[in-house]
Amino acid sequence: MSFIIKCLDCGYAAPYFPTSTNCPRCNSQWREAEYDYETLAKTLPLQLSGRSFDLWRYRELLPVRNPNPTLTLGEGGTPLIQAVNLGMMLGTPNLFIKDERQGPTSSFKDRQASVTIAALKEAGITEMVAASTGNVAIAYSAFASRAGIKLWAFVTSLVPAVKMREIALYGSQVVKVTGSYDQAKQVAAEFARQRNLYQDMGARTITSIEAMKTIAFEIAEQLTGLPGSNNSSNGKAPLWRAPDWYVQAISGGMGPLGVYKGFRELKQMGLIDRIPSIAVIQADGCAPMVSGFKQGLETAIPVTAPNTRIETLATGDPGRSYTILRERVIETKGTFESVSDEEAFRAMHVLAKMEGVSAEPAAAVAFAGLFKLVRAGTIKPNETIVVNCTGHTMPAEEFILGSNWTRDVQFPAKKQENPEEGLLSALNQVAPNRFPRVAIVDDTAEARRLIRRILQSQGDFAIFEAANGKEGLELIQRELPDLVILDLMMPEMDGFAVMDALKANQDTADIPVIVATAKELTPNEKSRLGTQIQSLLQKGDFLNDEFLEEVKALIK
Ligand SMILES: *Cc1c(COP(=O)(O)O)cnc(C)c1O
Ligand SMILES: [Zn+2]
Repeated sequence: MSFIIKCLDCGYAAPYFPTSTNCPRCNSQWREAEYDYETLAKTLPLQLSGRSFDLWRYRELLPVRNPNPTLTLGEGGTPLIQAVNLGMMLGTPNLFIKDERQGPTSSFKDRQASVTIAALKEAGITEMVAASTGNVAIAYSAFASRAGIKLWAFVTSLVPAVKMREIALYGSQVVKVTGSYDQAKQVAAEFARQRNLYQDMGARTITSIEAMKTIAFEIAEQLTGLPGSNNSSNGKAPLWRAPDWYVQAISGGMGPLGVYKGFRELKQMGLIDRIPSIAVIQADGCAPMVSGFKQGLETAIPVTAPNTRIETLATGDPGRSYTILRERVIETKGTFESVSDEEAFRAMHVLAKMEGVSAEPAAAVAFAGLFKLVRAGTIKPNETIVVNCTGHTMPAEEFILGSNWTRDVQFPAKKQENPEEGLLSALNQVAPNRFPRVAIVDDTAEARRLIRRILQSQGDFAIFEAANGKEGLELIQRELPDLVILDLMMPEMDGFAVMDALKANQDTADIPVIVATAKELTPNEKSRLGTQIQSLLQKGDFLNDEFLEEVKALIK
């Protein structure tokens, strides 16, 4: 393939070589690859039809001349999963998860590492330096070991020990820097300078930005339903589909910069008709880009002492990445948002319990940001949303899970008179509690399922369901639940009648009831419900947190 490296400042075009990091004319480090889009627009769609769905599918748009198949670990080609339950909860049915956990080292850094290592190998480079909050170093280590390239990984001492050990396992040299991530980057840069070694330069690394583009390419193909299917018939390029939103948690901003470039190239080639809005999310305790954006600044004010437990996102000084990313975000009508660590941990639980997707805290930041943007009305219900979900395995530390996440069973000692009895009493430990009992009475199965899922995503409940008022009343009288969630408009016997019957019986008169209704109630209807009702819940806008706080307050 043919491409040149063009300076973003003076426009000067130079050939690509990994170790030449500055513009030969103006010395700028901000440059990007440019391809022959006009030709590729004609040739690429046809070439793609016979290729497997992985990152190298788009090799004509990557800065590697001869991709070497022996270096790959199956990078790219990650699934785009529809988040049906989350979408239902948020009222955004077209919600998708780009599941970057399914890459070789479980983060989207695999793309960056595979393309960069391929380019280094091609250029005969055998040693490199990278500063990392964990995932970059893990990804580089895996691909470097395969390519026989030595990696010096500079990590901050806050990087979880499991991640450091994984880096070491691949044979990289771990250098632990006591200090912030920005300081670790400085130490790494000085080390690389002294020894004259190739150094990863974050968002200024040509190969990294190019690698991230493939996320955009894949999303556009997946939303169109293209990969593996044969619908590019009669030699005519079909129009691919871009989402309305791309949402990602950011640290240095390399991901969205690359993804933006990917969508822009697709548009240049006429394969999509618009570039999605880019929403980038930071952790409150280290959100220099978000505060810069909200204050309308073109340069971010660095955060010198990041205060977040989400180490992966701890870039305090984004430098010029921010300025460029801000332009992209404004151009695409996107936004910058931040969330607290607690909001991220809660989103992590919700995502795992509602969608079966266990993400690391940094990725949960993106989901917490999504919840916030949907609630604020920035992201609209009918829009197509793709959230980048990266997550290294086993991220759930004690402070995220809380203290009661396990129950211990001691196997009974041998010399017991009646061993079976011993086992039984041991098993009593497994479920010693009576879980709060909740009855859901609603005639739509979808609504029941949604409420059940929201409850289950937050704790242990014994849940009973009834599909109409009559069954519901019988159920409540039989099970005497701790809480009833009641629909008003139902066949057979409506919610008002159920309430009257509950009030009339002293066994059920004190059971708290949350009324879920599709419409605003008239004053007359409200008075009919009387004082027994604890809370009114407008259907369709189940605000997860508020609903759950209500539930928790009522069950005591
Ligand atoms: C690297 C990383 C980020 C931040 O990515 P940038 O695009 O470099 O800002 C977010 N989440 C996870 C899990 C990461 O590994
Ligand atoms: Zn220049």
